[in-house]
Amino acid sequence: MSNYKMLIAGKLVERNTTLDVINPANEEVFATVPRANKEDVMTAVAAAKIAQKLWKKVVESERRAIVNKIADAIAENSEELAKTITLEQGKVLDFARMEVQFAEAYCRSLASHEFPVKVLKETETNRVEEHRIPLGVVAAIVPWNFPLLMTVYKLSPALVTGNAIVLKPAPTTPVSALILGRIIADIVPKGLVSIIVDNNDLGPVLTSHADIAKISFTGSTPTGKAIMKNAADTMKRLTLELGGNDAAIVLDDADPKTIAPGIFGSAFINSGQVCIALKRLYVHEAVYDELCDEIATLAKNAVVGNGMEEGVQFGPVQNKAQYEKVLSYIAEGKAQGTVIAGGEAPNQPGYIIPLTVIKDLHDGCSLVDEEPFGPVLPIIKYTDLDEVIASANNSKMGLGGSVWSSNLERASKVTAQLETGTVWINQHCVFGPEIPMAPAKESGIGVEFGKEGVKEFTTSKIININKM
Ligand code: NAD
Repeated sequence: MSNYKMLIAGKLVERNTTLDVINPANEEVFATVPRANKEDVMTAVAAAKIAQKLWKKVVESERRAIVNKIADAIAENSEELAKTITLEQGKVLDFARMEVQFAEAYCRSLASHEFPVKVLKETETNRVEEHRIPLGVVAAIVPWNFPLLMTVYKLSPALVTGNAIVLKPAPTTPVSALILGRIIADIVPKGLVSIIVDNNDLGPVLTSHADIAKISFTGSTPTGKAIMKNAADTMKRLTLELGGNDAAIVLDDADPKTIAPGIFGSAFINSGQVCIALKRLYVHEAVYDELCDEIATLAKNAVVGNGMEEGVQFGPVQNKAQYEKVLSYIAEGKAQGTVIAGGEAPNQPGYIIPLTVIKDLHDGCSLVDEEPFGPVLPIIKYTDLDEVIASANNSKMGLGGSVWSSNLERASKVTAQLETGTVWINQHCVFGPEIPMAPAKESGIGVEFGKEGVKEFTTSKIININKM
């Protein structure tokens, strides 16, 4: 039996079938959680459908008040949530505390948007109004890199706009979501929110359910494509935030000492396990050696280890499959380039990989062309700006990109040519609940965050009145 319960159809429930959750810092089982079955998915969706019919009639201000109570509950239970995030995800405790603070802030910010009736036309004889109405039951599938934050930033906009939601955390990081279920069970109306745990077996059941109106998914591009297929039969609305392979271009006028900390921080944040982390670094030959040295020094001095331990700055990779995947990318990078920091995983339990920097790489190496999603940064030297812009754009992905320069005007000319949803200048991986994120190409579909992101949980209903 487990100490944790799933929130299904308004009840906190256990199950005889359980799942062990592994601490990635030492590979020890630190929690055992109940595992749902197909029947649970059916029960959760059916209850959500009933609850949503009442919830959509609740006035927006009251719905917002309830979502803000969820934010209050997150704040009240912040330390338990943060410690759990470190144990299940691996990130260092201070960063886990930040994740909890972000979750609270996103919860409130995303719930603050209002969608009043818009009068599109008003004449003596005719009035046309646009109402934003909820979609119905949302299915949310959450990955393992920010297990609480991503759960909350799907939950808050779904509820405030009048939808119900069935949430499925990643099988390797379900515990913080179950705690969230426990602390909100008495806040939300019965059945409106369900949180089910699976072992990578129930995603397709949930996303192909006829009564799911919208899927909000964050994860890999192949899974995103499988979900699109599942959505087709009943025309489900989709918000897909998939992988990225963000390029950063350093121009010849950038000052290596000034920009190195920003580049380092945005490449290795969360041990590189962030969709919009900086993942390919293209550096002009004029500043190449100096910048490589600066970044290598920062990486070598970083303390990687168990996120619960004082002084540790970067945690392990979250799960074994990802750890092995990252190591194989590093092996290919080592064969084709020059390792200037890290490169060898310690021979000890846990998915620890020292921050790894590999220079002298080229396009065509899978460490450059694909998304490793871990603590490794490939660096590529360039001489021609047009060629490097073509390299940056030569990707199926289009989440983010950045340009680093001491001349904002020059940088802006480059940003205009990058084919990504977000482009930063002299920073990377900077985001917030008020800033919409709209991936380009195969990095996803739709918008998250900002009013535009919340709007995606609604549909337009036009009332066209003949005044007679
Ligand atoms: P994944 O995309 O394979 O799985 C994510 C979730 O989707 C899991 O909960 C899984 O059970 C569910 N799922 C799988 N198949 C499904 C289907 N057909 N229908 C519905 N749900 C389904 O991700 P992963 O295996 O955890 O990680 C693989 C890669 O994904 C990583 O290497 C990384 O590149 C990427 N990733 C991206 C993000 C991000 O923030 N964009 C986060 C985590 C992982």
